[in-house]
Amino acid sequence: MRIGIGYDSHRIEPGGTMLLGGVAIEHGRHFVGHSDADVLLHAITDALLSAAGLPDIGQLFPNDMPENRGRDSAEMLSLAMANVRQSGWDLVNLDCVVLLEHPKISPIKSQVLARIAAVLEVPESLVNLKGKTGEGVGEVGRGELAVAHCVALLTRV
Ligand SMILES: [Zn+2]
Repeated sequence: MRIGIGYDSHRIEPGGTMLLGGVAIEHGRHFVGHSDADVLLHAITDALLSAAGLPDIGQLFPNDMPENRGRDSAEMLSLAMANVRQSGWDLVNLDCVVLLEHPKISPIKSQVLARIAAVLEVPESLVNLKGKTGEGVGEVGRGELAVAHCVALLTRV
């Protein structure tokens, strides 16, 4: 078995649609980034690639390449998972933490888990997600930043 950790953060700005775990949230704010800025999918992608010993998300999808501008992170995650499987690994489980002041994760959690499981083509029982706030302190607490951590465990097929 092999374990990998993924981390990502994106700035939050007013307007637009927030994309979290491949789910669009109409919250009057959005994550800022070169791709669609889905902070959770980026952390998951890096955890999986890292566990398999593959190049990370920035190497696979360089942000100086025009085709990666505004790119669908679910598509990037799906391609990364295909690389992981081709390298002879399969997912045991994923555990994720999102640090986000607003909105709360709990009301959208089941939707997000279903979406991640669908993108990875794995049962939902392999994916776990927890939401945390910044308790009103720091960049997360002021609603300026979203952070995601993810740990992935893989097993040799
Ligand atoms: Zn990112």
